[in-house]
This record gives sequence, structure tokens and C-alpha cells, in this order.
Amino acid sequence: MKNKRKDKEEYLERLWELKEAGSESLDDFMRAVKDDYDPELLDSLTSDGLVELDEKEKRIKLTAGGADQARKIIRAHRIGERLIFDIFGGDFETAACEFEHTVTAELVDGICTLLGHPGECPHGMPIPKGECCRSKASTAHKQVVPLKDLEIGQTARVAYINTKDDRQMHNLDDLQVRPRSVVKLHQKYPCYVVECEGAHIALDEEIVSSICVWSDNEPNESDKSELLEFGRKHRKRRGLDFLFGRKR
Ligand SMILES: [Zn+2]
Ligand SMILES: [Zn+2]
Ligand SMILES: [Zn+2]
Repeated sequence: MKNKRKDKEEYLERLWELKEAGSESLDDFMRAVKDDYDPELLDSLTSDGLVELDEKEKRIKLTAGGADQARKIIRAHRIGERLIFDIFGGDFETAACEFEHTVTAELVDGICTLLGHPGECPHGMPIPKGECCRSKASTAHKQVVPLKDLEIGQTARVAYINTKDDRQMHNLDDLQVRPRSVVKLHQKYPCYVVECEGAHIALDEEIVSSICVWSDNEPNESDKSELLEFGRKHRKRRGLDFLFGRKR
């Protein structure tokens, strides 16, 4: 049996992505959903007041209410990607799309806080802010901080790199500065010098600001058990088992 709610959520997600790309074209939407195009599903989203469809002009867009729902789904999806990519080091593409349909907003905020309120998913797409980001909630435990906030001489593991610039990302990758590699901060002035894999690398402030590290080295067993605890407390559906039940 097809899962209607999940299919609707996927449609809202695609429409949000079109909105990000600045498109309201029905053709673009049909291209985005490919074989999953289902006029009945669109009709029901329209009668739910979530989508505005103009068949004559071939235009489609989210209503304010639809954008509100899509925003939550996108947020859950991209936080899910960050979680899987940063902590479990796994394949986030497929898992995140399951995650977003089962997770509660409360759990998303908990994970967001633990990850230091990341601004972008591993693809570099913006993560819509949650309550936790606005109140700058923090946990007592490890969290992700910008590399430039480390003390000189401190060593830390890279959590993620927040740069939209492909070339910068590529350069850092060539220098082996990438998620899960260990870096040591040597100096902050006149430029930043970071050691990675035995090499000393000079970096400018902008690039250093884009690198986020685990403030106390890396997600250790207690971070992971904190996450597992979250999962257990908040799990309402079996859908989260795939994520919280798995061992590294
Ligand atoms: Zn999805
Ligand atoms: Zn993404
Ligand atoms: Zn947050």
C-alpha cells in the first residue's frame, strides 16, 4: 500500500526546492518528481490548501501554509543528513529521506543543538532555523564550534565545512582538511596556521570560519549515547530504528 502522507511530504519537499531555485513552473515540478507524478495527489494537496495550482498557466507553488509544512520537512531532512554524515559517517542520501517523515520537531531541535546549530546540509543547502537556533540552546556536552574559536595548540576533529564555494571545498579536501580529519591550531595571527596530516597550512579568516570542529575532539561514546537516549525518549514510531538501532 502506498503511504499517502509520506508521498505528500515528498511533494511539499520538491516544491520547497523549486522555490529555492526560484521556479514556479509545473514542468519543472513534473521533472523533479519524475515517475512519481500523480495528479490526484496534487489535487488533494490543493484541496488541503497547501498548494496553489494554475493548470492553464502551468504554474505551481506552495501556499503560506504549505511553505510552513515544507519548511519543517526540509529542516528535518537536512538535519538528518548532517547527523548521519557527521556522526555516523554513513550514506545520508537514502536514510535522511526516511528520517524526515518519522522524526518529531523536538528531536530535530535536540540533534540541531548537539551539532551546534549547523547552517547548511552536507550538500551546502541552507537548513531552515528552528526554535533551538533562535534561542541558541546548548548542551552541557561536546558540540561543534568554529575552528577559529580553538585555543592555540588545541587539537580537534573536523565536524563539517560550511562553504558554498566548491573551489574552496576542493582546496581544503586536497589538503586533507575534511570531515573527520584531525587538525591542530598553531597560530591565529598574522594568519591562521593549521596542522593537518603532518602538514602546516596557512588559511585566511574566511576559510577558517567555514571549518567547524568538535569542541572536545570528536563525538565520543557519550555523545552517541546521548543521541541514543534522545532516540529512545522521543521515538514514537519504529521508523527511527534504522538510525538509532544501528551500530558503527
Ligand atoms: Zn525527502
Ligand atoms: Zn542536503
Ligand atoms: Zn538549532
